[in-house]
Amino acid sequence: MEVEEQIRLFREFIEKNCYAELLENVRKGRAFLTLDFSELIKFNTELCEEVLESPEELLKAGELAVKEFDLPQKITKFALRLKNLPESQKVHISDIRSKHLNKFIWVDGIVRQKSDVRPHVIAAKFECPSCGNIITVLQLDKLDKKYKEPSRCSCGRKGKFREISKELVDGQGLVLEEASDELDGTQPKRINVFLKDDLVSPISERRSSPGSRVKIAGWVTEVPITLRTGGQATKYDLIIESNYVEPLQEEDIETHITPAELEQIKEIAAGENPLLTLANNIAPSIYGHDKIKEALVLQLAGGSRKVRPDGTVTRGDLHLLLIGDPGSAKSQLLKRISKVAPKARFTSGKGATAAGLTASVVKDEFLGGWSLEAGTLVLANRGFAIIDEMDKMGKEDRSALHEGMEQQQISISKANIQATLRCETTIIAAANPKFGRFDPYDLIANQIDLPPTLLNRFDLIFPIKDLPNREKDEQVASFILKMHQDPTAAVSAISTGLLKKYFAYVRQKIEPKITDQAIEELKEYYIGMRNSGGDETSRKSIPITARQLEALIRLSEASARIRLSSTVTKQDAQKAIELIDYCLNQIAKDSETGQIDIDRLSSRITATQRSSISILKEIINGLEEQMGVKVIPVENIIEAAKGKNITEEQVNDVLEKLRRSGDVFEPRKGFIQKL
Ligand code: ADP
Ligand code: MG
Repeated sequence: MEVEEQIRLFREFIEKNCYAELLENVRKGRAFLTLDFSELIKFNTELCEEVLESPEELLKAGELAVKEFDLPQKITKFALRLKNLPESQKVHISDIRSKHLNKFIWVDGIVRQKSDVRPHVIAAKFECPSCGNIITVLQLDKLDKKYKEPSRCSCGRKGKFREISKELVDGQGLVLEEASDELDGTQPKRINVFLKDDLVSPISERRSSPGSRVKIAGWVTEVPITLRTGGQATKYDLIIESNYVEPLQEEDIETHITPAELEQIKEIAAGENPLLTLANNIAPSIYGHDKIKEALVLQLAGGSRKVRPDGTVTRGDLHLLLIGDPGSAKSQLLKRISKVAPKARFTSGKGATAAGLTASVVKDEFLGGWSLEAGTLVLANRGFAIIDEMDKMGKEDRSALHEGMEQQQISISKANIQATLRCETTIIAAANPKFGRFDPYDLIANQIDLPPTLLNRFDLIFPIKDLPNREKDEQVASFILKMHQDPTAAVSAISTGLLKKYFAYVRQKIEPKITDQAIEELKEYYIGMRNSGGDETSRKSIPITARQLEALIRLSEASARIRLSSTVTKQDAQKAIELIDYCLNQIAKDSETGQIDIDRLSSRITATQRSSISILKEIINGLEEQMGVKVIPVENIIEAAKGKNITEEQVNDVLEKLRRSGDVFEPRKGFIQKL
């Protein structure tokens, strides 16, 4: 097709379809027009074929067509954008090869990294000092990093030309990564994308912030790699020069639920106990752990996120921590969840850094300058981040999780980049206890070696103890052995795909309202727990805090979602209470008083210990006065403590604690002194 013909066709198409939009855009100073490819193909298929074959040329023709119109303002630079490219032009990032060079394609992925917007020279004019000839050199042609000067003039002169002007565009680099639902265990491939002109405007900027999922249409070009010696390598890098960027909602992609599948979902939900059905099918190859599986199902459904009129947000995501003995199928469970969760990213705490988890500012190899790179939590936005071996993480790196878990955003301010990235991510973590294995004779709370601020952010913490028990061991053993004999033995009645869709569906479509009955139930439990430790003045334990109350609400909402119910009922509240109660009983129950004390997680001193500490301190003070000396024999303390129902063992225990905390010291054996 001749160029004139191409221009004529574009002109006709624009006149017919989007002339008003063009005028509007020009009046508002927007130098672009978006054409709908699906319309264009109805208009002229031959033109469309050529557009797909050599997009750069054809779009130039289209731009010339725009300039032929009688427009309200004179335009110098104008871009045509094409949306709705056909499915046949979709290329997976990992499949991009040299055969796609200069062809119009589109890719879909997650923005992993994004650089600053910087001006780029696309053309420069030079004057020849000998003959006065003006030479234009195109610069951004192939995105070569090197600034090109003319090599020789028609008059024969070589080198030393005078630069007279430069033409600049605003450009920005993205690194696009394959989305995880299109991967199966392979390392996600990445590709560099170049954006320019209106694609880097603030409105478009927001669409392509790191962590967001986008569809990018454009053509592949090759960039020569410049060697350190200044020469050119025979290898080329491929990049996508983008023409159109479209943000994708996670919802759009995940839910291709067919009517038949929806029927199946509704059938499961209408069953006797859908929570139990799902729990039984979520990880059929793992024996037992019934409560944990129920909790995981609720977690996958999630609570609802609430934005108040004053702008404060409470998260709906339920964070869950499994902490337990080695070989208790923690990793196995997490792996399985990463398969059924609608959008999940798996990392191991060992070797995970704060930057890799949240976000970082990195040197941009591609365009120079700095760029913002999203980490796991941000990339898993609106999905699940699964962190195994959390105890193996560095302290500093672990603390990076705080903001993401509660505020659901990641702020970063480094180099010249200040940004806040969204991180509505649910966290499932697993860790080993302090010494690798639980000591059955010590309190579980004392054996969790994670900072209280972090523990507090988990809605549910499940300890898994692997104690020998003949009956249970036999069941586990025959289960595991049978599975090895016949690997297909443990199949789930519900396919992984359907489970995934079930959770995607309830997360998007079900927003249950809490009924008064449910509120009443939760309130009663909460107040009951808060006031369980005797009357107000003598109470020394603080059973649960407002965080657990919010956890209760989220769990109740999740339970309603699982039933596809629009209301949270009393039964949902009871389910939530059952799970929270189970966890609190496991970790925070004081075996001596039978009371639950959430402070045990934070201060590592239980209510009983706390009261015996204060009693012993009183005894020491009393003895000091009575005996008139500073150095007090431990014997006397034990004697005095007996009268207050504190055993010798407890006294030694408390003295050890006091010694460690620096309250007392041991001037000689068998004697202590206050500091
Ligand atoms: P952890 O991460 O807790 O240290 P793993 O998840 O790596 O342990 O589990 C170790 C092995 O033990 C896995 O192969 C797992 O299948 C098996 N295993 C442990 N407990 C169970 C169980 N309850 N049901 C089935 N397999 C189990
Ligand atoms: Mg493990």
